[in-house]
Amino acid sequence: MALLSLKNVRVAFSGLTALDSISLDAEAGQVLAVIGPNGAGKSTLFNAIAGYVPLAGGSIQFDGRDIQGLPIHAISALGMRRSFQNGGVFGAMTTLENVLTGLSQRIASKPMGLLFGLAGARRAEAEAREHAVELLHMMGLAAIAHRPARELSAGQQRLVEITRALAARARLLLLDEPAVGLTSAEREHLMAILRRLCSEGIAIVLVEHAVDMVMAVSDRIAVLNYGKLIATGSPQEVRTHPAVLEAYLGQ
Ligand code: ADP
Ligand code: MG
Repeated sequence: MALLSLKNVRVAFSGLTALDSISLDAEAGQVLAVIGPNGAGKSTLFNAIAGYVPLAGGSIQFDGRDIQGLPIHAISALGMRRSFQNGGVFGAMTTLENVLTGLSQRIASKPMGLLFGLAGARRAEAEAREHAVELLHMMGLAAIAHRPARELSAGQQRLVEITRALAARARLLLLDEPAVGLTSAEREHLMAILRRLCSEGIAIVLVEHAVDMVMAVSDRIAVLNYGKLIATGSPQEVRTHPAVLEAYLGQ
């Protein structure tokens, strides 16, 4: 069963149909890329999945549960995180502190002090720090753990944002143009990280303009045009799909 499943999803903005009967699955351990021309509905799709805009029709299941109509924080608590194109990190905080905010979101629901007493709360905090440091090592960010996030490069900030989502136990990452502003070395690093996260069972849905990256990193690609899904398939299938060539590549 797919981790995320959209059935006949429709979103309308005062008369304009931004998404028209979209049915789409995202699997754990895979990268699904969503591509399409400007205004095709890619960001609206993310907004609908993460609960930022209401559906005019259809349903969305995450891990077997209907999530349409749930508030943003409730969807996020189920293990879904969306990134934003800019401003995804707290600039005044260090890399480590940014990641710790993800961990504290995870344990905020449990009043550690009440449950385990003060010593227990301190132990939980120490464990959270240890886990954050482990995640930073895995993401190749350990050397910049104590730098303020605003001093980091765009690529490093993007990785900090992803690390924070992992700390909060995200099982599905919705990444909106994560490669914008990245150097080619940073892109390579980001792609390697995304593949690695997939191999650990995380599902990634990616909106990205960098076609080379989409082709290299995706298991499946969905193509939107004017709010409609015009093709889904492997990178090879989509690359040669007549409707895609016509609508998207302008051939
Ligand atoms: P993409 O991300 O593929 O460029 P969007 O999802 O941002 O496309 O937009 C799809 C369509 O929906 C566009 O016509 C856009 O103008 C419209 N749209 C998006 N968000 C809103 C909104 N909040 N209110 C009204 N129209 C919107
Ligand atoms: Mg967009």
